Amino acid sequence: MFEIIRKIFKIGTVTNLQPLQQASVKYRGKVKVEAGNCTGCGKCIEACPSGAIGSCSSSDKVYLCLTHSKCIFCGACYDACGDNAIQVTNNCYIAVKDKNELVELSPIMLQSNRQVL
Ligand code: SF4
Ligand code: SF4
Repeated sequence: MFEIIRKIFKIGTVTNLQPLQQASVKYRGKVKVEAGNCTGCGKCIEACPSGAIGSCSSSDKVYLCLTHSKCIFCGACYDACGDNAIQVTNNCYIAVKDKNELVELSPIMLQSNRQVL
């Protein structure tokens, strides 16, 4: 153990930080909701096979919410949304230190008959 620590101090850092690189434009990465185009129809919720898109309640109102940690990047929400309100971006850098940061509450209020998950 002491030998390992001695080597760490003697040799120093042997890895390099790599600059962030852009993934291919065809890469399916982080899903983004364009709030301005969303009608709150909820079709994306029905289409999402993993429950990554759902509804969340806050202050007695029901909003569209996106849990990035559940997303399997299938693109079904994009296909279901006829209003161009969903983008599947090529952003592949979605790791965070706090998992709560992976839940995104959209400012979109869902149409009233949606069930809160
Ligand atoms: S993102 Fe698209 S499918 Fe989802 S609620 Fe908004 S308009 Fe409907
Ligand atoms: S890409 Fe697939 S898993 Fe991810 S939010 Fe859309 S439908 Fe759900």
